[in-house]
Amino acid sequence: TWINFSAYFHKVIDRFELTKSDNIRFVRKIPREAIFIEVDEDKITQVLDNIISNALKYSPQGGTITFRVRQLADEIIVSVSDEGVGIPKADLGKIFERFYRVDKARSRKLGGTGLGLAIAKEVVLAHGGTIWAESKEHKGTTIYFTLPVEREQKDDWDDV
Ligand code: ATP
Ligand code: MG
Repeated sequence: TWINFSAYFHKVIDRFELTKSDNIRFVRKIPREAIFIEVDEDKITQVLDNIISNALKYSPQGGTITFRVRQLADEIIVSVSDEGVGIPKADLGKIFERFYRVDKARSRKLGGTGLGLAIAKEVVLAHGGTIWAESKEHKGTTIYFTLPVEREQKDDWDDV
């Protein structure tokens, strides 16, 4: 289905905004204009739900979570940044593997199975995008993913 990603992303964030604790702040940097892309909405919602739940799960009190969308020529880059515990460099490449969880003790306390990001990766790849993470321990984490945007059909009549 075709969706306006800007409006859709706001709707997903709104849902988390209603239930989040007051000491976490949400900041949205999302273009005002509509960005139409073709996605499986339920699947992309699953991706965002996991990334946003992780950001909340690993955020300290008073932390800010920043949501961004950048539109490039043929893709959009979506990102969710937190100011949480971060992920050690050595683990950064592995968090998209099934059942991989950094620091077993910490992860057990916070709950989860370690499947969320593996599923996210599968869904994003199936959409023709990529997903990666940047993180600094004790500073925070940003999860990025891209989704392709159909380029406007070049009008053949232009050159006539
Ligand atoms: P599930 O999503 O299945 O409930 P999970 O959240 O532990 O469990 P993933 O979402 O796949 O699993 O994440 C894998 C691991 O990556 C997490 O256990 C955690 O160690 C680390 N991680 C993911 N997101 C963050 C984040 N925003 N900050 C710090 N660590 C993170
Ligand atoms: Mg998760």
